[in-house]
Amino acid sequence: MHPHVQKLLDLQKVDLEVTSLTKDIDLLPEEEARRRKRLEQMQRGASEAQAALQKAEVKGRELDSAARDADAQIGKLNERLNIVRNNAEYQATLFEIESVRKERDTTQDDGLRILETLDGLKDQSTTSQASFEEERTVFEGFLSEAEKLRTERADDIAVGKAKRTNAAEGVPPDLLREYEGLYKTREHMAVAAVEGAYCQGCYNKVTINDVSKLMGAQVVVRCGSCQRMLYTS
Ligand SMILES: [Zn+2]
Repeated sequence: MHPHVQKLLDLQKVDLEVTSLTKDIDLLPEEEARRRKRLEQMQRGASEAQAALQKAEVKGRELDSAARDADAQIGKLNERLNIVRNNAEYQATLFEIESVRKERDTTQDDGLRILETLDGLKDQSTTSQASFEEERTVFEGFLSEAEKLRTERADDIAVGKAKRTNAAEGVPPDLLREYEGLYKTREHMAVAAVEGAYCQGCYNKVTINDVSKLMGAQVVVRCGSCQRMLYTS
């Protein structure tokens, strides 16, 4: 086998080890972002539900207080009826009482309508807050599991990366770059075996000329179909 191909084949074994150690860890940031987005959505939902409840409560209190003010005003107007000096003033006061009463009735109706929504809004606020807190606990669990996994793997990954540096030594930079590109784009198989004149990376036939070059081991031979570097055992 060509010595550089032999080195790359050894390197590929190390790379496969490192890949299997980092594969799930590499997916963690994306998973974390996805979960964080969901959590933030739930937090927004909970805040909105709480804000809607507070708004309704404030509005309800305002209406209640306005209705009580109107009642007090009606009381005063009724007292005035006893001291008016003429019929015109009497009629005007009656008219005013009627108008304040109408307004008070509308205010009371509005207040009742808001009161009817309060239970629903309270439930919604409580439920969405509870869901958010539950999700937050799950998320914190995920974060600590992820951290645990990273810590557990850190030593093995460091060892694998050191092995990789050693294994790559002596490979011409251009060839190493080509290998690394293929490793990424060819499902972690940059160097492929040839068996029975077939490339084991893509299962296409290798030309007789290339097979004889492989036997000679003087040049690096690439598969004409998938461009992987080839070797025969
Ligand atoms: Zn091939």
